[in-house]
Amino acid sequence: MAPDYQTLLLAIGLAGFCLSATLFASWMSARVERFLLSWSIGIGCIVPAVAVYSLYIDQASVAIGCLAFALQFLGFAFIYGAAYRFRSGKRARRRIAAVLAGCLAVALPPLAAGYDGIGFIVLNLLIAGSLVATAREYWRGRAEAPLPLIGIVILYLLTAASFLICAAVLLHDGKWVMGHAPDNWAETLNLIAAIMGITGIGAMSLALNQWRIAGRHRRAAMTDALTGLLNRRALFDRYGVLPVGEHQAAIAFDLDNFKAVNDRYGHAAGDAVLMVFADVLRESCGAAACLARLGGEEFVVVLERTVPDRAQRIAERIRQDFAGKLIPIGGRSITCTVSAGIAFAGKDCASFDSLLSSADRALYMSKRNGRNRVSLAA
Ligand code: GH3
Ligand code: MG
Ligand code: MG
Repeated sequence: MAPDYQTLLLAIGLAGFCLSATLFASWMSARVERFLLSWSIGIGCIVPAVAVYSLYIDQASVAIGCLAFALQFLGFAFIYGAAYRFRSGKRARRRIAAVLAGCLAVALPPLAAGYDGIGFIVLNLLIAGSLVATAREYWRGRAEAPLPLIGIVILYLLTAASFLICAAVLLHDGKWVMGHAPDNWAETLNLIAAIMGITGIGAMSLALNQWRIAGRHRRAAMTDALTGLLNRRALFDRYGVLPVGEHQAAIAFDLDNFKAVNDRYGHAAGDAVLMVFADVLRESCGAAACLARLGGEEFVVVLERTVPDRAQRIAERIRQDFAGKLIPIGGRSITCTVSAGIAFAGKDCASFDSLLSSADRALYMSKRNGRNRVSLAA
């Protein structure tokens, strides 16, 4: 038995209500994710839209029709806004307002003038357009999580196609004045596509949100909060398990007399000095170098495929640049220096641990010989 139209409408309303509530609850637990709220509002609009449309099926008055159209446009405008915000991180209010205003301006006049057939064709075309625009946002952001995002794009496009088919069937029938809600096979297909779209997109969107949160936590766990460099864990995750590469070098750094900076100017001043040193590292090393803060005032630079000369030049440049920096601390400027030790992969340094120990021994040679200098491992 074919499902009757009102039953399908009820199914959409229920699916929309459940998804909207779930999205709202997700937003409540992570309020920075504003797109969750836009999604929740957008999907939430489907519930009253379906209720009003079901009234229109019984009694096709212009006022009820206009209200049903407006609620649908509002919902799809918010769904588009959520996608825009999800991808760009920017506010979507203006875009939501523009989509809504544009749709109302184009679709309501024919409906109000009694040409409900034209009104429904325009309604279907506009919704298809807003769904394609929504799909485009996810497509542009697909690098973040290709599989789920391309899945979402496909679902939006399929849903858009079902609205296009409705428009095509109405166009083909050519009844510009109908006096009742459209009633043909394409409408039923459209409702089935909408149910699949809502549930599929809803599930994938929530998964995507979790994916994004997990990625953020993963990055935070790998980053030193003060300097933004990699932390010790990230460094050992990256190099600790691999045998060291043939032309790999490690440069260990330790700021000189740093305790005195803290004692004299305070802990916040010490933190500022650490951030300046991290900036010097970023400025002096190419993108290929791996920069990490091991802890306290100790840092490591790992260079891949390098020659001794180049590693020495980089270490020397960092030492000089840092020594020449005037670091503003509460109305005055201070300077600070750094000692370094360089080790190269080889027979004696076959593991990352031994490479670091070797660089450390060279670093302590620099300290013993008077600080503010670079030493090579034996
Ligand atoms: P040396 O030249 O021999 O390296 O002397 P030093 O004073 O730099 O070395 P020491 O190990 O005695 O002191 C390191 C100081 O670094 C002690 C600690 O209070 C400070 N420190 C460690 N972590 C931080 C931090 O995150 N912020 C600040 N401001 N200070 C830190
Ligand atoms: Mg130290
Ligand atoms: Mg020190």
